[in-house]
Amino acid sequence: MSRLDSAIRRLQAQRACLNRAAGLIMGVPGPVLELGLGNGRTYDHLKTLLPDRRILVFERKAMAHPDSMPPRDDLIEGDFRETIPAAGARLETPAALVHADIGSGDRAATAALAEWLGPALAPLVAPGAMVVSDQPLVIPGGETFPLPETVAAGRYHMLRLSD
Ligand code: SAM
Repeated sequence: MSRLDSAIRRLQAQRACLNRAAGLIMGVPGPVLELGLGNGRTYDHLKTLLPDRRILVFERKAMAHPDSMPPRDDLIEGDFRETIPAAGARLETPAALVHADIGSGDRAATAALAEWLGPALAPLVAPGAMVVSDQPLVIPGGETFPLPETVAAGRYHMLRLSD
């Protein structure tokens, strides 16, 4: 598979999983957490999917497309290892949806970050919340959720928190 094919499939998988998750959280109150703003593409898609939800964005240093910059109050800059543990104080209610797109070119560092992130998210997510991620995460109380049929196993990941 060419890198172009791979990139297209990755973006299609992101969209399919986010679309599916957005439909599943209709009865779950709470904000959305977007981990990894990057260019802002998935943030922009989440805004379109969930226009009435607050979306809190975590990013080391926000450099997104200007049309996809979150409002200042919804942007938490800094390393996840500092901002995620402190995030509970900013949330009025636990999150209904988390999207974590955190991968970098450094596979070992990405795997270590994902291993740390799962347990760190546990205090921030509501019962019935969905977690969609580019890396496999292990969250206490989270169960693997079936991917949309168009998404190959391992390309993206979905968890649902037990009620
Ligand atoms: N979903 C984004 C989009 O659609 O444009 C792309 C996200 S990009 C793959 C990953 C982002 O995660 C990068 O912007 C990077 O700066 C951020 N990131 C990775 N590790 C981080 C960390 N430890 N703390 C804060 N941000 C981090």
